Amino acid sequence: MGVMPAEENLEPLQQFDMARAACSMARGHYKEHLIVFNDSVREKEILEQRLQNDLRRALDSFEFEVYYQPKYDIQSDTPRLMSAEALIRWQHPELGLISPDSFIPVFEKNGKIGEVDKYVWAEAAKQIAKWRAEYGVTLPVSVNLSRVDVFDPALEETLDGIVRQNGLEQEVLKLEVTESAYTENADQVIRVVERLRRKGYVLEMDDFGTGYSSLNMLSAMPVDVLKMDRMFIRNIEHSEKDIQLVALILGIAKSMNIPVIAEGVETEEQIRLLKDLGCQIVQGYYFSKPLHPKEFEIRILQRVAEEKR
Ligand code: C2E
Ligand code: CA
Ligand code: CA
Repeated sequence: MGVMPAEENLEPLQQFDMARAACSMARGHYKEHLIVFNDSVREKEILEQRLQNDLRRALDSFEFEVYYQPKYDIQSDTPRLMSAEALIRWQHPELGLISPDSFIPVFEKNGKIGEVDKYVWAEAAKQIAKWRAEYGVTLPVSVNLSRVDVFDPALEETLDGIVRQNGLEQEVLKLEVTESAYTENADQVIRVVERLRRKGYVLEMDDFGTGYSSLNMLSAMPVDVLKMDRMFIRNIEHSEKDIQLVALILGIAKSMNIPVIAEGVETEEQIRLLKDLGCQIVQGYYFSKPLHPKEFEIRILQRVAEEKR
């Protein structure tokens, strides 16, 4: 719902437009369901319009870049690079570097997210194949699927095409779907995800713990991996309750044979606690922020060198 408090010196049509702008803002938002028009809504509307206008040029002139954030196995003797997550960046010629949180919702709203995501999936697949050819290691990369992509009837075909063109197997291009997509459109998501899994894709439930699915729903959900949201990790050093919560999630996942990836791990103490609790895979600033592929290659070389030792 969008709200514009009545103002006498404005034309009704103007006020209606303002309410509509607030409404459109609420539509792109997954938490706020009611937004009241103000200057920040106006500024956001102008920015969104700009981003929408610039999308075509951005795709054609390669303004989008894909960064890779490593995921490490912390249960081995020394942490071992296992895989990565592909995260998009927009290097805008006038606005500078734009974070995905600012533009993904805009393109989800106007239906263009599919084009952006396809670009990222194709880049990630190319990158896996390139690393395989150059370093002889196959490092799986997870890509993000928007909640909107799940409604694209050509999704499976698109992914298969990308995998095939790069000579890959389905399981090395892993798919992250946010938990709230599962709960908002359960039937549709479950149907699509089931089909993808049968083909060999690995489905990771992203942001687990933020989307109001209860733990007992998990057994009915088609997922291969849980990505525990970083809000669970943030305070574990300071809160016994949070430790218990993480232990509980790890315990239930383990009993269902679902591996867990901890997101947003930033400190050594968090690593120590997660290791003690039996969590195996960790992603976060402690190991690295998302990296340009050139920087990421240094990590691969490190792993290759360790394996030769
Ligand atoms: P996400 O999928 O949950 O990705 C993780 C986000 O957490 C990334 O933000 C990453 O940089 C950040 N992060 C990683 N480690 C840490 C940490 O230790 N501490 C903190 N505070 N943050 C950490 P980023 O790259 O800005 O991406 C934001 C969101 O945008 C992503 O959240 C994802 O939902 C979306 N996104 C990114 N790339 C794509 C894409 O290609 N397609 C779609 N549909 N969505 C994308
Ligand atoms: Ca993700
Ligand atoms: Ca996440």
